[in-house]
Amino acid sequence: MTAPQTCQNYINGEWLQAKSAATLESRNPADNRQIVATFPRSDAVDVDKAVAAARIAYKTWRLVPAPARAELVFRLGELLRDRKEELAQLMSQEMGKPITEARGDVQEGIDCAFYNAGEGRRLFGQTTPSEMPNKFAMTVRMPVGVCALITPWNFPIAIPCWKALPALVCGNTIILKPAEDTPACATFLVQLMHEAGFPPGVVNLVHGIGAEVGAALVEHPGIDLVSFTGSSETGAYVGATCGRTHKRVCLEMGGKNAQIVMDDADLELALEGALWGAFGTTGQRCTATSRLILHHDIKEKFTSMLLERTAALQIGAGNNPSTEIGPLINSKQLQRVSHYLEIARAEGVKVLIGGEIAKDGELQHGYFFQPTILNNVTPQMRIATEEIFGPVVALIEVDSFADAIAILNDTPYGLSSSIYTRDVNRAFQAMRDIEAGITYINGPTIGAEVHLPFGGVKQTGNGHREAGTTVLDVFTEWKTVYVDF
Ligand code: NAP
Repeated sequence: MTAPQTCQNYINGEWLQAKSAATLESRNPADNRQIVATFPRSDAVDVDKAVAAARIAYKTWRLVPAPARAELVFRLGELLRDRKEELAQLMSQEMGKPITEARGDVQEGIDCAFYNAGEGRRLFGQTTPSEMPNKFAMTVRMPVGVCALITPWNFPIAIPCWKALPALVCGNTIILKPAEDTPACATFLVQLMHEAGFPPGVVNLVHGIGAEVGAALVEHPGIDLVSFTGSSETGAYVGATCGRTHKRVCLEMGGKNAQIVMDDADLELALEGALWGAFGTTGQRCTATSRLILHHDIKEKFTSMLLERTAALQIGAGNNPSTEIGPLINSKQLQRVSHYLEIARAEGVKVLIGGEIAKDGELQHGYFFQPTILNNVTPQMRIATEEIFGPVVALIEVDSFADAIAILNDTPYGLSSSIYTRDVNRAFQAMRDIEAGITYINGPTIGAEVHLPFGGVKQTGNGHREAGTTVLDVFTEWKTVYVDF
């Protein structure tokens, strides 16, 4: 067993102890006897320090030409590529992600770096005719200022990169508050940022508890923008606080995503999509498939195909190359998933497979839950409407395409969605009528690409998109300039 790593805050280019001597720890969710890292329980004083450093650095960083800012982001991409395997192994250990998926998470960070580095040579504005003679009119993108980035544990490299890298290219300075469960991954990323050569104060990292450090950032008058990814409950608080304190805010929150399988679907293809969508990252993705809406005519056949494959899934530690279902992130999440199973049973749902904590042999010290398929689910049950964030999928039967779309939409969330059909008309109707930020036709609900907008509607988001060029609208303000000559 390797010794726990000691993580520190990173403020003004230096690794620092927090004001308080109190520390917290992250543990391997596959074996909770193993402490992966200790990290400081920072408080509002540490936040003040980070904000002061970021404010001073902003004065000069905003004036550095965007292509030069982007070169440092490109350098970070190279460093991430060099250290990819090491970082993926650490991630697997700290949050339990199966190693192939952990590599994918780091790769997303690498892609994000190279993609956003290119923006340093674009960041286009517009020129436009003026109504007046001898007048020139144009728009330019300006940085927003000091950005607080509050991130979850389920994509401990990809999500911080999705926020930090465009923010930096656009000329903002940043303070990252990572999730308590993944401090070592965040520290590794910031170590590489330090190595890439960002000037002191441009990148800052403050560890700690969300309700303490996160809340102090959201309240702080020196923060101009909060970019938050996490649950809808926390996001509602963050959004309300930013409204009260007049901050720009980008919220990326929960999901209750569905995959529709129509009577004319390629069932083998739909099966692969359902397995990956429901059980990839142990169902702990905001885009995870937690409802399968199945047409009556294929339901029996498709369900038996799904059960056969689910029964064969390998549960185990993330670092084991044969693992397909890793652990849940922590004991609280294990209890949450177990609790939802109690609710489902009380609602009259039939558990076709799984439904229990997995604790045989090597699994006994981890937070494992069996991949679970629930039948006889009706659209209004809690199990069909609330985000579970675990390897649990609810089967809902429908008789028509119209019912399938209506049920898919009948949720407070609107992140990802999918339909399997061979009918091109239905595919286009689904694309038009589904209320979600992302729709896949003949593909699973998961699998975002860095150059396309990412985000959701309804209680999933507040109108912004990450990734793609759309993220530039989060991290820049438009300025309109009139020049008389
Ligand atoms: P969470 O509990 O809401 O936490 C997210 C982040 O907010 C963490 O860094 C957390 O810190 C911090 N936080 C907690 N309370 C806070 C407060 N009062 N003020 C400011 N910050 C606070 O969510 P999670 O459990 O980490 O992540 C799972 C959720 O994220 C799911 O709902 C999932 O759907 C969503 N998610 C959404 C997307 C998307 O793009 N839409 C992507 C990934 C995940 P601590 O860790 O210290 O509590």
